[in-house]
Amino acid sequence: MRQRASVKVNGIVQGVGFRPFLSRQMKACSLSGWVRNSSGGVELEIEGESTDIDRFLDELREKAPALSLIDTVDVEYMDELAGYKTFEIIKSAVREERNTLISPDVCVCGDCLAEMYDPRNRRYRFPFINCTNCGPRFTIIKDVPYDRHKTTMGSFPMCAPCDREYHDIENRRYHAEPTCCPDCGPRLWLAGEDGHETEGYAPELAAALLADGAILAVKGLGGFHLACRFDDPALPAELRRRKQRDEKPFAVMCASTEAASRFAFVSEDERRLLEGHTRPIVLLRKKPGAQLDSVSENNYIGVMLPYTPVHFLLLDELAKLGTDSLIMTSANLSDMPIIYKNEEAVQKLRGIADAFLLNDRDIETRCDDSLLRAFEGRPYFLRRSRGYVPYPLIMKGLRDGGPMVLACGAEQKASFALCKGRYVFPSQHIGDLKNIETFSNYALQISHFRRLFDIDPQIAVCDLHPDYLSTQYAEESGLPLLRVQHHWAHMAACMADNSLDGRVMGIIWDGTGLGTDGTVWGAEFLTGGYDGFERRGSILQIKLPGGDRCTDELWRTGISMLSEAGLDPAGYFDAEQVRAAEAALRLGVNAPRASSMGRLFDGVSAILGIKREASYEGQGAVLLEAAAAEDCGRLYPVRLTEKAQDGGRPLCVFDWRPMLRELCEDLRGGVPVPEIAAGFMNTMVAMAAAVTLRICAQDGTNRVVLSGGSFQNVYMLERLTKALRGLGFEVYTHSRVSCSDEGLSLGQLMIGERHVSGSTSEDN
Ligand code: ZN
Ligand code: ZN
Ligand code: FE
Repeated sequence: MRQRASVKVNGIVQGVGFRPFLSRQMKACSLSGWVRNSSGGVELEIEGESTDIDRFLDELREKAPALSLIDTVDVEYMDELAGYKTFEIIKSAVREERNTLISPDVCVCGDCLAEMYDPRNRRYRFPFINCTNCGPRFTIIKDVPYDRHKTTMGSFPMCAPCDREYHDIENRRYHAEPTCCPDCGPRLWLAGEDGHETEGYAPELAAALLADGAILAVKGLGGFHLACRFDDPALPAELRRRKQRDEKPFAVMCASTEAASRFAFVSEDERRLLEGHTRPIVLLRKKPGAQLDSVSENNYIGVMLPYTPVHFLLLDELAKLGTDSLIMTSANLSDMPIIYKNEEAVQKLRGIADAFLLNDRDIETRCDDSLLRAFEGRPYFLRRSRGYVPYPLIMKGLRDGGPMVLACGAEQKASFALCKGRYVFPSQHIGDLKNIETFSNYALQISHFRRLFDIDPQIAVCDLHPDYLSTQYAEESGLPLLRVQHHWAHMAACMADNSLDGRVMGIIWDGTGLGTDGTVWGAEFLTGGYDGFERRGSILQIKLPGGDRCTDELWRTGISMLSEAGLDPAGYFDAEQVRAAEAALRLGVNAPRASSMGRLFDGVSAILGIKREASYEGQGAVLLEAAAAEDCGRLYPVRLTEKAQDGGRPLCVFDWRPMLRELCEDLRGGVPVPEIAAGFMNTMVAMAAAVTLRICAQDGTNRVVLSGGSFQNVYMLERLTKALRGLGFEVYTHSRVSCSDEGLSLGQLMIGERHVSGSTSEDN
């Protein structure tokens, strides 16, 4: 039977090759009709045999182009046939509205690579080849609607052959805004230390320098990288020296998954993430004897595969010289944002880079590489940025026409999120707002997102901490303000990540966050949902002699914990340090207390002699995890006490002192540090399970969310998830945003949205 249907497809379906795809599918299914862009996506009318229409609709999601994101498909059957003979793309009836979604920047596609490697193709070895299925997007867009002249490609008028492809519906470059060729596109060149161009084929020149041991600045999609070989440990050491970089691990780029698997284990899940078109940095476990300590001091190494044509061409030349992997670390100075402009790079990287691989396609928006690991077959983000931003998260709990909200995030791992209808737009990785340039980029990106997605927020949500620069931004925004407790926001973020609503229990462990009682929290057991929470469990507070200095000087926390447990720090730390810390404790000035999991890890790490002075945030905990023995059943006592709370049920408190006393006994008794480190983390898992059992029994809830930066620790994440499931709990972890403060803005946003929706429905 012949039928006619009207179909509306909403989502990211413009500028991603969707209409040519529809045209191909219509032909394949012998259908006729038309398609046009609409405000939220595309609309089409199709006519043909009903079985063909069914097949067309079935294949719509399955076969959709790589960069598209289908949100909804609405189908309405019509009574009469129109007698369409052909399939046509017709001009959009509506004025282009600004709620078109924008796709992220993704890896060059297979079709483009094949052309790039074909000597007869006019784009042979062309470093800026792209099509509707691949290439730059978010990082080159200045404004909407997404059109070439509103991108940084606007300064490259298309030549006649490119223009023909652009207007040919059968062509892969139909309406590919950044399309170009050697005749009309950007140029790649190698510049020396002084910024002057060197004659020759740039990838070959650059590869020769790298092979020779040089450090190169390479312009990528969302900023510059610093690249060098690492088969000789002297080179990473030299890069650290020049960058005056702490001990933070470097990421590497490998020509292929096979190249990576020479020094790291790659599971099937990890391979899928590595090779996917978003091309994140994937944390892989090092193989024993891999000799990579100069690249990464822990058990993991961050690996990514090439994603721009420039990377491919560069690695091809390097392969000829016998190298298949390079360090590729973000080019930034200490806590400054990633460098993204040519002049800036040449200026600021003087003395660091020996040469520059430059091009004249400007980057409009900075975007760092995404960083994740595979957990239970899904991505587990440590940084959600390039390749993912600005894709929206489609949130089941939100509704079309609901309030628009700006969530301002935290401070050190800043991000923000905005929502419109059911779409939430989390920002890219921004960095530490205490750096003035990072803060101005943060403010700039908020305005940019508001303009791109036409979002006019009714409310700003920020952290309870008055000193966070994100809080100050919110206060100065002129919007009505909602302040949300830090760990509650973490809990809500993990709920939203898993599309949960209602009541849950949250195990929220991180460094620090301001509590509602004015003290510092960070090892919290909360119950509640988007509309409120109750603090139900925590750990015995740790005194921090020297306050903020404890973040770097881990020995301070170690000494304080030993004293608190009635142990003599003299046997563990040198006399000078003990004197300094004890003086601060005795005087009680600048010795705040914190119930923080991060600080507990710091203290134990210092006592065990794993790390006493940290050069980056979380280093004590990272190295403690790296030091731990894999299969060790060691366990220390879990003592739980109760503490009365004003106007609430008593707080279940883990007293870590008995644990610490036994742990120290082991240490003095000569038990190897790896076993004690494992024993400590096993104890944290056992403690979490015991507290969860107690609270959930009282509450009748069965759903547990795990969030906060401490859950970047895989040892604990894996074991706690397993332990709680074994006890019959439903356990939820992150997979769409990070568990760290970077993911916090999503939780703030959901709480803010509920706050506004709740109060309007009461008004009505
Ligand atoms: Zn392509
Ligand atoms: Zn051209
Ligand atoms: Fe946090």
